[in-house]
Amino acid sequence: MSEYPYADRFPINRTLPEEGRPREEVMAQLQAMAKEEDALWETGKCSGTMYCGDHEHYEFLNEAFGLFAHVNALQRDMCPSSTNFEGEIIAMALDLFHADTVADAGAGPGGLVTTGGTGSILHAVLSYREHAAKHRGVTMPNLIKPETAHPAFDKACHLFGVELRRAPIDPVTTGVDVSWVADHIDENTVALIGSACNYGYGTIDPIAELGALAGGRGVGLHVDGCLGGFILPFGEELGYDIPPFDFRVPGVTSISADTHKYGYALKGTSTLLFRDKALRDSQYFFLTDWSGGKYCSPGIEGSRSGGLLAASWAAMVQLGRAGYRRYAQAIFETAEAMKAAVRSHPELRMVGRPSFLFSFTSDVFDIYHVNDFMRRRGWRLNGQQYPNALHMAVTRPQTQPGVAESFAVDLADAVAHANEHASESPASGAIYGGVAGGINDEADEFIRAVMAGMLDKQMSLPPGHPG
Ligand SMILES: *Cc1c(COP(=O)(O)O)cnc(C)c1O
Repeated sequence: MSEYPYADRFPINRTLPEEGRPREEVMAQLQAMAKEEDALWETGKCSGTMYCGDHEHYEFLNEAFGLFAHVNALQRDMCPSSTNFEGEIIAMALDLFHADTVADAGAGPGGLVTTGGTGSILHAVLSYREHAAKHRGVTMPNLIKPETAHPAFDKACHLFGVELRRAPIDPVTTGVDVSWVADHIDENTVALIGSACNYGYGTIDPIAELGALAGGRGVGLHVDGCLGGFILPFGEELGYDIPPFDFRVPGVTSISADTHKYGYALKGTSTLLFRDKALRDSQYFFLTDWSGGKYCSPGIEGSRSGGLLAASWAAMVQLGRAGYRRYAQAIFETAEAMKAAVRSHPELRMVGRPSFLFSFTSDVFDIYHVNDFMRRRGWRLNGQQYPNALHMAVTRPQTQPGVAESFAVDLADAVAHANEHASESPASGAIYGGVAGGINDEADEFIRAVMAGMLDKQMSLPPGHPG
């Protein structure tokens, strides 16, 4: 698909138009774009990203959003409803993660609603840094994450001046090497990280062992449940083998869980939960001597839309535990069927013991041959490297009738294609797989150009296009 397929069809704006266009015309353009782009995932062949995929649910959320979209949640004197929605989102998420079992001395459990998984991770890292500075006098903080943990931790450490130590994983289970972590904790370590589950392999780190280690050494343990937080608890209830990763585990001090993934809310929201709200409270920002008045914000953002709080709240109370459990059941059953298809091919190897998201590789051919073929059949799997692998995050669009069956059929043909072309190099490998030689100056330049392209494409179109 082209990066900018709309150039020939719609006006290109290089300036704010002097006269506005009629609402109907603007809406017609938006509808045409949305319809085409929705068609890409409505087939159920797209890994992750569209977690709900149910247009009726989206309409309901959009209606809830619309009522409060224009409200600034920072100005609570005008919107007590935001206090209602945010507090209940936090309370429901804390309950899901068994905060009721927390008996430690402290201020008690609490949370934050953030803008997404990255937002939750940024706030967690900032909280650990600030808390350790205040209570332990740490001025050169470090954090230890499994190599498989999300890049948002690297981003947070980069932004907040925290040293990041990347722990290796066990190549078979893909769980973090706990003894490596133990050896690398020092007096400046503010927290350890574990994922439940990680994005790459869908596997869960040994959270109980990490919790015991963190508790024993007096450091925090953040569990990244951005992806799994709103589905794994229901998988556990349904009897799937999911080890506890939440506040029932001693030593777990915070958890991130994205409402905008398996919470089935709109994009732009996530939750961050704390065993002891003193940790959360350590990162508040306020300026009391500003000429503009007294300023305080509970998190990194300034103004926030009340609509996102309303829509997340609406998703949670409308679905309820039974709704989440029903969706989880369909997703886990579909994932089991797809995993069975992978396991039926001796050429393919499943990585670790995955859950609703599974990753597979091959020791016989480059797995990107499978990707090349699956793409032609309309599948969009996620590419991985070191080793090259493909992953599928099963979401509700895959639970439609026939999708798991066509996955099995297409995968069998893809394996045949890969066997046939094993001596050639796959087309998609260069984009997704380990670039030969790893990151070098050339790759660095290329990535910068891709990012700039997203922002500047519009301006670089040749003159003569409509508009
Ligand atoms: C998606 C994800 C994140 C980051 O979330 P964003 O919402 O993309 O910012 C963090 N951790 C895991 C495991 C994820 O899958």
